[in-house]
Amino acid sequence: MTGLMQGKRGLIMGVANDHSIAWGIAKAVAEQGAELAFTYQGEALGKRVAPLAQSLGSNLVVPCDVEDLASVDAVFDTLDKAWDGLDFVVHAIGFSDKSQLKGPYVDVTTRENFSRTMVISCFSFTEIAQRAAKRMRNGGSLLTLTYGGSTRVMPNYNVMGVAKAALEASVRYIANDLGPAGIRCNAISAGPVRTLAGAGIADARLMFTYQKAHSPLRQNITIEDVGGAALYMLSDLSRGVTGEIHYVDSGYNIISMPRPEVLKA
Ligand code: NAD
Repeated sequence: MTGLMQGKRGLIMGVANDHSIAWGIAKAVAEQGAELAFTYQGEALGKRVAPLAQSLGSNLVVPCDVEDLASVDAVFDTLDKAWDGLDFVVHAIGFSDKSQLKGPYVDVTTRENFSRTMVISCFSFTEIAQRAAKRMRNGGSLLTLTYGGSTRVMPNYNVMGVAKAALEASVRYIANDLGPAGIRCNAISAGPVRTLAGAGIADARLMFTYQKAHSPLRQNITIEDVGGAALYMLSDLSRGVTGEIHYVDSGYNIISMPRPEVLKA
């Protein structure tokens, strides 16, 4: 097979099922010749991820809970046994207590869940970058997923928005630190997608409807849309790009107020 990702090996973290954004990315890069390894969180998800991985020709499917650093190290130990290097990593991991993705941020957020959300949704990317960079001997590409609730207030996104803001700042610091080694670090800021994680946010259905109606392209995005942008970020096509937050949101982020005809209706 020939393709943009021919000869590249990558780790995909965050597939829960075939609706996951990470799955859209995995399909896009595998189609272009990438060789993939996958992580899954817990045995129940493992049963879903293994056949998906196999359908893309991958038998490297490893458990990983980023709250447990030993399991993160075990992933890289497994990769070391199978591969002599690494070219890219996709970090599509996010979590917060669902009960705090509802109501006013200032009232519902606890110290415990704030810390847990930050570790899983933000700092895990840094810990993975630390380990991945050591294996990227010919440069590489690190990619994480964020959401526009990092820079603008989205109802109920709450502590996830705060964690995504920190994640986006991490992208810039990591990009600067690893740039001299030829390792790039970017994020895709995806519009709302119907996934397990997306369903955890209160009134997610209204977010889909609103962003579809008010985005320039008047459509919700798909995991294949994110896959296309990720292929660019993970391949040499984006070799001059690092530290970037790239929106794949039908253009919603550029809009200020709804169109007059909508307001008058
Ligand atoms: P998803 O539920 O399919 O994926 C989330 C993944 O995070 C799951 O695979 C889950 O197992 C993993 N995860 C959670 N806690 C973990 C832990 N402790 N250790 C290891 N893995 C853990 O949902 P998704 O929407 O595809 O989410 C992927 C990423 O995209 C997340 O960072 C999310 O915030 C981001 N994102 C989602 C949307 C959306 O609307 N769905 C929009 C923008 C960004």
